[in-house]
Parts: sequence; structure tokens; C-alpha cells
Amino acid sequence: MTTENHNQPDVQLLQNVTSGAERSDLALCLECGADLTGKRDDAKFCSDRCRTNHRRDQQNKRASGLISSLEDLATHLTQIVSTLKTVIEKGGLS
Ligand SMILES: [Zn+2]
Repeated sequence: MTTENHNQPDVQLLQNVTSGAERSDLALCLECGADLTGKRDDAKFCSDRCRTNHRRDQQNKRASGLISSLEDLATHLTQIVSTLKTVIEKGGLS
């Protein structure tokens, strides 16, 4: 014979935890994750250095994306050229 003991969650404790941490709009530096409390409302970075680093990162990402697109394009062009060569070797598009 078992007596099931349904433990109810400690509601009061939960309420204490949630109200204890006052929800302010927690803003963190996009680059290093530093707390931006006390900075301007629209601040996204803790310092000019982080802003510069972040922008450079974004540019690097964009540049490497562009490079891989160009590499894809080069692969396609190579395939097209070799297809054309095959067609020509077989006597052209007559
Ligand atoms: Zn930062």
C-alpha cells in the first residue's frame, strides 16, 4: 500500500525569487557581453573599441560570405566551360 505524497511546489518561494530580481531591461555589450547598466538606453556597446571590433567582425563575415559566393560561381563557370568544350569536341551545336 502506497501513500502518494503530492509535493506542491513552494509557491511562496517562487514568488520571492521572481519579485526579488527586479526586471530591468538588461542590456549587454554586443561585442564582449559587458553589463550596460547606466549607459544610454540605446547603447549597444560598452566602449568605442567594442563598437569598432564588432563592426569589423561584421565586415569580415560579409567579406568571407562574398568570397565563398565567388568560389561557388567559379565552380559553376568551370563546369559550364567544360560542358561547352565537350559540345565543341563533339562537333559543335549543328
Ligand atoms: Zn564591450
